[in-house]
Amino acid sequence: MVVAVAAPDNLARMPVTSLKGVGAALADKLLKLDIRSVQDLLFHLPRQYEDRSHVTPIGALRQGMTALVEGEVQLADVAMGRRRSLVVRVHDGTGALTLRFYHFRLTQKDGLPRGTRLRIFGEARTGSSGLEMYHPEYQVAPEDLPPPPDTLTPIYPVTEGVTQPRIRALVTLALARLEREGLPDWLPSRRAGGWSLPDALRYVHAPPTDADRALLQEGRHPAQQRLVFEELVAHQISLQKRRAEIRAQRAVALPLKTRLAQNFLAQLGFALTGAQKRVLNEIAADLHIPHPMLRLVQGDVGAGKTVVAALAACHALEAGYQVALMAPTEILAEQHAVNFTRWFDALGVPVVTLLGKLGVKARRAANEAIASGSAGLAIGTHALFQDEVRFRNLALVIVDEQHRFGVHQRLALKQKGMGGGLAPHQLIMTATPIPRTLAMSAYGDLDTSVIDELPPGRTPIQTLVIPNDRRVEIVERIRVQCLAGKQAYWVCTLIEESEQLQAQAAEATYAELQVSLPELRIGLVHGRQRPGEKSAVMQAFKNGELQLLVATTVIEVGVDVPNATLMVIENPERLGLAQLHQLRGRVGRGAQQSFCVLLYQTPLGQLGRARLATLRDTTDGFRIAEKDLELRGPGEVLGTRQTGVTQFRLADLLRDAPLLPAVQDCARDLLVQQPEAAEALLARWVAAREHYAQV
Ligand code: ADP
Ligand code: MG
Repeated sequence: MVVAVAAPDNLARMPVTSLKGVGAALADKLLKLDIRSVQDLLFHLPRQYEDRSHVTPIGALRQGMTALVEGEVQLADVAMGRRRSLVVRVHDGTGALTLRFYHFRLTQKDGLPRGTRLRIFGEARTGSSGLEMYHPEYQVAPEDLPPPPDTLTPIYPVTEGVTQPRIRALVTLALARLEREGLPDWLPSRRAGGWSLPDALRYVHAPPTDADRALLQEGRHPAQQRLVFEELVAHQISLQKRRAEIRAQRAVALPLKTRLAQNFLAQLGFALTGAQKRVLNEIAADLHIPHPMLRLVQGDVGAGKTVVAALAACHALEAGYQVALMAPTEILAEQHAVNFTRWFDALGVPVVTLLGKLGVKARRAANEAIASGSAGLAIGTHALFQDEVRFRNLALVIVDEQHRFGVHQRLALKQKGMGGGLAPHQLIMTATPIPRTLAMSAYGDLDTSVIDELPPGRTPIQTLVIPNDRRVEIVERIRVQCLAGKQAYWVCTLIEESEQLQAQAAEATYAELQVSLPELRIGLVHGRQRPGEKSAVMQAFKNGELQLLVATTVIEVGVDVPNATLMVIENPERLGLAQLHQLRGRVGRGAQQSFCVLLYQTPLGQLGRARLATLRDTTDGFRIAEKDLELRGPGEVLGTRQTGVTQFRLADLLRDAPLLPAVQDCARDLLVQQPEAAEALLARWVAAREHYAQV
């Protein structure tokens, strides 16, 4: 698809080297700040402001005060103490002050002969010679000093080799360019809160001294919010466009047939929850349209997403089309294979499983069944979208536990359409409850459904936070529970993503528990085992042949063994809250009271305590995810690597979330009513960055 690219703003086309005094070396340093053009300088916003607008008499300085003073040099000398320092004595008639520099050049001293007039900004501290300032910013004036600035002084994010005065000077030059060149306003004025873009930029780089500094400091000043809003709108436009492109593709419109679904429900043995029904209706409506569905189903752990996936599959299968179900791990794919084969065999739908562990012959047979269409439902890991796999008429792709997959894999699946220009419908299931704000920006191209109700009869899990020195008690508890016919997990975690180290830890714990619990049948599962071994252990646990399963976080997603009612998580302080919540969701899947023990290493800091307490106090995945977001930031929560969640230049999703509804409206309006403005915003905020990101 050809996208019209609006001409970039003039200032965006001017490299920083077009500014006076900026050479290649400085340009290189600015690159570290992501600054390439004059416009980038304008969008490089201060992180803080200082009031340097009035001069404090030195005699009025007190310990701890940060102030602007002026005075005359009495003496500048290199002192040879424990560390060499440049000491400059300054007085102004009301008192004297010592400036101390540990990093200095000798030429600096030469520039400060007796009688030189200085303007100094820094924090006064009590030192050996009375009041001192360490490494203050100062300005030398040959004769008279110019009046102090009549605005607040911006403090910018800087980098090695780019000082505050330097970047301030550069921004001043950029602001002068702004006066000359202008910067067109693309936001409708009512959305911009009365701020033109140039006004907002001028304000944030040089606010008047009576500006609300607290508001500015937090980035909540209307001038700042005007800029943030524009950036968010631009990103929203890009998401909405991408979505429109996908929506413009064609897909099979699946008839609303329900025989298979009804037969499926009849054998299930329970009724759907209201939330499951509602989400299924949303899915059915999407599938009925001749354009690809792109729907994200969020549901807390145990909300019953698998059944929803199966019923969605029924629509496509009954109409004679194929369905692919992709899971992030072999364990989960196998578990799905077991369940779906049982369900669909009874309905006469052939199911094939495509796993990494398959031998050449079995794989070829599976591929053939998929290519000929004799397999209705294909279940697998990412093995499903290798090149050799060709579907005959794939109409629906279901991705379980999306958060484990990357955007690229999502796209790869899209390519697996049916041929003839038809794209498959996509259903993406995730148990990571993504806070709404984040979902809007990370998955703005998807429609979302939420299964916000757990099946009836669940008893909430009780979570205990216990230090590792009470390990013996916990082991005892496992013994009692398992001898009473229950099952338990013991999860070993490591902060490293290394499966090998995790596996070692799990093996050591396995050995230890075998010694302390000789009467129990204990199994071990980790990512380094051969797939066959893994599935044999999982199956044995599921059948109740094993009572205790020692595992790594490979069991994090999807595993469903309702008789398991106790989970011990070692070193929970090393994991994110959302991940812990996932793990914990492996218990509490039946009607019996379940327990989760968070066995932490002492000492645990205050933040660590707070995090585990959150988990103890709530089982609501959304609340936990919000908290996680607050504590760790969006990149960590979603895994930036995996999801490609946008890094904003100015916006902060936590702070600016309240803007999002208006942002979405504004983006939609612009796309419809002023497409040229939408393109210009894209070019200003998104296209340039994406372009640079590719090179
Ligand atoms: P998740 O949303 O975590 O993938 P599952 O689909 O694995 O959850 O479902 C969790 C358990 O709840 C399964 O044992 C499933 O059979 C059961 N379940 C699902 N829906 C219902 C329902 N409506 N009523 C009772 N049990 C249900
Ligand atoms: Mg699941």
